[in-house]
Amino acid sequence: MALDYKIIVSKNPVFDKCPDCGAIGTLRRSRAHNTKERLIKALTPFKLYRCRKCGWRGYRSTITVTMGSVKALLLYLVLAAITAYIVLFAMKFVS
Ligand SMILES: [Zn+2]
Repeated sequence: MALDYKIIVSKNPVFDKCPDCGAIGTLRRSRAHNTKERLIKALTPFKLYRCRKCGWRGYRSTITVTMGSVKALLLYLVLAAITAYIVLFAMKFVS
């Protein structure tokens, strides 16, 4: 079984809709104006964006978690649980 699901996919919010006016393709990267904004930019996957149409300014995530990845994650957990069970079962026989 091939498990080539990507759990986290990077995306470019420039192609997102503006959360305020709903225009597509108007978001542009915005420069951090103060220390708090610089910290958020440095420590999180969120980056500052500004809408060229309505002037909205805020954070957009540059990564996204896909629905397929949630399924893949569950599958990993189930497989891990089965493996752990088998290992525990085998250990009972060895000892
Ligand atoms: Zn806008």
